[in-house]
Amino acid sequence: MSAALVVFLLGAAFRGSPAETTGALAKVWNMNDRVRRTEEEWRKLLTTEQFNVTRRKGTERAFTGVHWNNHAPGTYRCVCCDLDLFSSADKFDSGTGWPSFTRPASAENVATKPDRSLFAARTEVLCPRCDAHLGHVFEDGPAPTGLRYCMNSAALKFVKQAEEKK
Ligand SMILES: [Zn+2]
Repeated sequence: MSAALVVFLLGAAFRGSPAETTGALAKVWNMNDRVRRTEEEWRKLLTTEQFNVTRRKGTERAFTGVHWNNHAPGTYRCVCCDLDLFSSADKFDSGTGWPSFTRPASAENVATKPDRSLFAARTEVLCPRCDAHLGHVFEDGPAPTGLRYCMNSAALKFVKQAEEKK
């Protein structure tokens, strides 16, 4: 088989993949694709701020992160494992100083858990693939969901729309 034919066949297979034909923005996570690392490994891969937020459930100071005022089109991925978490299409200006979204890019791509720390009943938002702490979700958001996913910039990696296919 010639090299040109192989390239052609690979290209055809790629164009026919389900994610392309459905037009879905997010790569949907599947349960068999877990990412597990030791604390030492995470420390090496992440900055101190990223480690404190994602692996220690920290919260960055408001208005200090890199994403709260980002209005560019693109996808926000997990800083630890690259899972697609949120789309710029669902981002809104909450005035809180943290990047805020009305919904995740795909329901399967975020996990939630009750959080009773800080003397308040809140709902923690986690990455289902690597268990990174991302932030919290509150029920005071705008339409269409009424939800406010209040995230830490340090937990997110922004990928501009033009670069998403890479
Ligand atoms: Zn993750």
